[in-house]
Amino acid sequence: MPLPRYNLPAAMTEFVDRVEQFDPAPDASPVVTVELRLAGESTSYALGDHTARALYEALCRYYDPADVGPCDRCGKRRLDANLQCRDCGHVNGVFGQVLLEHAEKIRREERELADLPADPLAPESPAADPPYAEPQLEQ
Ligand SMILES: [Zn+2]
Repeated sequence: MPLPRYNLPAAMTEFVDRVEQFDPAPDASPVVTVELRLAGESTSYALGDHTARALYEALCRYYDPADVGPCDRCGKRRLDANLQCRDCGHVNGVFGQVLLEHAEKIRREERELADLPADPLAPESPAADPPYAEPQLEQ
């Protein structure tokens, strides 16, 4: 397993040291033990209720920078930088809405053209109106 480029045990130790200073009951028994194992080394953190709650809140509040919200169509959260869903292909956001409206306009125009009655002035068949031919000069 490759090692992460960040020092998680150091961050956890710093977090616990920072939060424990404000524990209103520093002598109370720990309520949870968190163990980090990294590269064969294990570090345990016995957390009191105050620090455990702080860790819980930090975990709950984490928001991934790549998370731009759910797809309008399928509800999954795998949108790329252009807000296009990697699962269903839908383009989300204002640009996606503009694309949808434009596509609907084109669809409507094509439907209207298909529903038009035949042009009474149009030739009945292509043979009735031969293609244009250059006039031949008489010699
Ligand atoms: Zn989608």
